[in-house]
Amino acid sequence: MDWQEGQGSSGGEAIAVAARASCATALPLSATAAIIGELMERAQPKLTPMMEQYLRLKAEYPDALLFFRLGDFYELFFDDAERAAPILDVALTTRSRKDEVPIPMCGVPHFAAQSYIAKLLAAGFKVAICEQMEDPATAKGLVERAVVRVVTPGTVTEEECLEPRLPNYLVALSLDAAGGAAVIAADVSTGEMQCFRAADRAGLWDVLFRLDPREVLLSEAHSEFAQELSGRLPRALVSREAESTFDPQQAATWLVQHAADLSSWHREFLAPLGALLSYLRKTHRSELGHLRPPASGELPAVLYLDRATQRNLELVTNLRGEARGSLLWVLDQTHTAMGSRLLRRWLLAPLTDLRQIGARLDAVEELLDKGTWRRDLERELASLGDLERLNARLAVRRVSPRDLAHLRRALQRVEQLKSELHQSRSLLLRQCGEQIDPMTELRARLEQAIVEEPPQQLHQGPVIRPGFDQLIDELRNLAQSGRQILAELESRERARTGIASLKVRYNNVFGYYIEVTKPNLHLVPSEYQRKQTTANAERFVTPELQDYEHRILGAEERLRAHEAQIFAQLVDEAAAAQERLARSAGALATLDVLCALAAVAERHGYVRPRLHQGRSIRIRDGRHPVVEAMSGRAGFVPNDTMLDPDETQIVTLTGPNMAGKSTYLRQVALIVLLAQMGSFVPASEAEIGIVDRLFTRVGASDNLAEGESTFMVEMKETAGILRHLTPRSLVVLDEIGRGTSTFDGISIAWAVAEFLHESSQRPLVLFATHYHELTDLARLHPRISNFSVAVREWKGEVIFLRRVVPGAASRSYGIEVARLAGVPDAVVERAKEILSNLEQGELDAAGRPRLARGKGSAGRELQMTLFAPPPDRWREELAQIDVERLTPIEAMLRLHALVERARRSD
Ligand code: ADP
Ligand code: MG
Repeated sequence: MDWQEGQGSSGGEAIAVAARASCATALPLSATAAIIGELMERAQPKLTPMMEQYLRLKAEYPDALLFFRLGDFYELFFDDAERAAPILDVALTTRSRKDEVPIPMCGVPHFAAQSYIAKLLAAGFKVAICEQMEDPATAKGLVERAVVRVVTPGTVTEEECLEPRLPNYLVALSLDAAGGAAVIAADVSTGEMQCFRAADRAGLWDVLFRLDPREVLLSEAHSEFAQELSGRLPRALVSREAESTFDPQQAATWLVQHAADLSSWHREFLAPLGALLSYLRKTHRSELGHLRPPASGELPAVLYLDRATQRNLELVTNLRGEARGSLLWVLDQTHTAMGSRLLRRWLLAPLTDLRQIGARLDAVEELLDKGTWRRDLERELASLGDLERLNARLAVRRVSPRDLAHLRRALQRVEQLKSELHQSRSLLLRQCGEQIDPMTELRARLEQAIVEEPPQQLHQGPVIRPGFDQLIDELRNLAQSGRQILAELESRERARTGIASLKVRYNNVFGYYIEVTKPNLHLVPSEYQRKQTTANAERFVTPELQDYEHRILGAEERLRAHEAQIFAQLVDEAAAAQERLARSAGALATLDVLCALAAVAERHGYVRPRLHQGRSIRIRDGRHPVVEAMSGRAGFVPNDTMLDPDETQIVTLTGPNMAGKSTYLRQVALIVLLAQMGSFVPASEAEIGIVDRLFTRVGASDNLAEGESTFMVEMKETAGILRHLTPRSLVVLDEIGRGTSTFDGISIAWAVAEFLHESSQRPLVLFATHYHELTDLARLHPRISNFSVAVREWKGEVIFLRRVVPGAASRSYGIEVARLAGVPDAVVERAKEILSNLEQGELDAAGRPRLARGKGSAGRELQMTLFAPPPDRWREELAQIDVERLTPIEAMLRLHALVERARRSD
């Protein structure tokens, strides 16, 4: 670490004064930059020029750790050093020189900085990179420095800091008075942008949960919400930006520059877009050419999945947050990271448009039919890598020589793919083919310019192919022959001095030198000039060596500079093709996803679903895609499903614990979701009327981390369902009302079921419950049907048949289990008695379940049973009426008479 550079020795004294001042006011030595800034003002004379420079820069980036470039290292000072050192796992040291206040510091070598930055981002920090803006060797006085970039979790483009298969969203939002928001999301690592409109707070959480952003931009004005965000989105860093950056005008200008149709943009999206663009400018210090504005501010029509549904159905992670055991885990047979990310997007936003879904299904079907071809495609895809992220790195000019070689190989391969796709039946596959752009000119340039296997970084080996650039060839020859001459010099000197171990070596401080080990020193000729003594050897130079050194180093330095220049030119050329590359990458990612869906269909025996505009859902031999994949298909018992708004609108499903109720409910939801994302489904047949909202309330999942009781969460989710029903909703309710007392629970569950039945939206509902009382619902409501999951007793064991059959499960099942478990006979018998007592109380005298009684009707029903004439007399009288022979007037009169009598006897 070079501490000398640039500053005079008087600087040390200045810091010493600051130190004394700090001791006098009893400030800790690790005072923050702000405090040091204050000291700076008070301290006379001034601090060392370099530390002044540091503090000035640091003051501009109070919320970031400042990586201060010093020679080959980035150094961190003061608080920054103390916070970063344990995360980076580097030693926290102290810069302390004579008369100088000790300053905590740590550092990382610049060439390895990326991996250290990745650690800091993961820990939720931002990093401001401060570079030397001039060569320290030639600079006069203090080296000029400036912050060239602020790396933040939501704006990074470097591979080391990104999860290959996860999107990396930066989200900006403008809250409205109703708690909703206009949301702009950008994945800077790929250039993708989306907008969303959330009507209320719950809707906003749905959106944010789906995006799972790494960073959220919020106006300074919303401090409370910022806290809530940090609590609920542990992966996201919340950055509060000045309200003035939420500037619609800026956004509009940018959109116009990017040829977006401004008239189709909702005004509300402009403010957050303005903030997002301003933040990117601030952090990247340049325009990002690869960001693609969404075609318009219109929101695409998708199957809406609220937050609870995304979680409960375990779409991208299981309930414990792991990928294994999620639907994505089963589906993700993609061969590129960009394909994997697109698959996740499709999964979280299934379509509702029949034509679009059909196009995907056609493509999957063709790829399934042509298995051999598909496997060839998959191999090709696997060799392409992540062109989306490579494209983003091109846009910000942070590509390695290996990236360009990679791009070249990809371009060489896609030509063939393109022509093959042209011949496919499926429109979507042909469209993919059309969008793939082999960019032959760029490819040719890269073939001519870049060596076969370039190094990861410039200057670690040759990058430019011989013959591409005359000057490079010349400089290489020069450097090469220089080295040759040095090798000759070494052997010549060995022969002349008789020192067999004599070596010509190089280091950064002395340049080239001759090293002679201690035992041979007596043989050293007199014209050798001693430079340095080490433990075992001495190092010398000669005028001849210095002369060669000059020639070699001169050539190598020029070679490096020139190679860098040529490389930058090539990067510019490639970056100019960004849009075409983005389109290609998008098409290849789509192809990858379609291949993956076909591969899954083949592996697990899925069939093509038939989607229609009707409202019913019929599934034959449906299976749960994940349970089946975990346990093997042979062990999974398939089940049918039949839902129809006019007949079986609601299914109540009963059965003992572990029977398979939850599995069945989820499997129906997942099959619908798979079908609408364009996938084949685990069933032998499926006919699915398009669903536009899928609601689930599954299990008593714990939400204590967010400071709410389980029951409160459950009721909030239930409220959300009841408020947002649509005529195309599918509602899955698994054991609602479980989190409270039995009576409360049954009452709520019952009322919810009735509400769903009576709702004019007629949503389709699957309702699993362990409250047996709820099976009585089917007695009263024509569109509610009872089903149960069958179990059998066999040789004293419960056998789970996993078959869903019509009818309610046996009431005394729990007691049976108790008996099987060895509870004494006396207890079992007594339990049966109590159950029977309870059951007798369940129906009222009119034969209606007591639970069903509504407000005003309860008293009356009871009285009727006491005082009304026996029901049979009424029946007799009604039976005698011959309706066919009555005129309308007569009918009215008879009815009137009956009603009058009924009222009198009441
Ligand atoms: P419940 O909700 O009725 O308590 P679950 O749906 O949680 O029961 O199922 C319990 C277990 O039974 C699951 O973990 C699964 O492994 C197994 N299972 C459920 N349905 C089936 C099925 N159709 N075929 C095979 N195994 C099943
Ligand atoms: Mg269950």
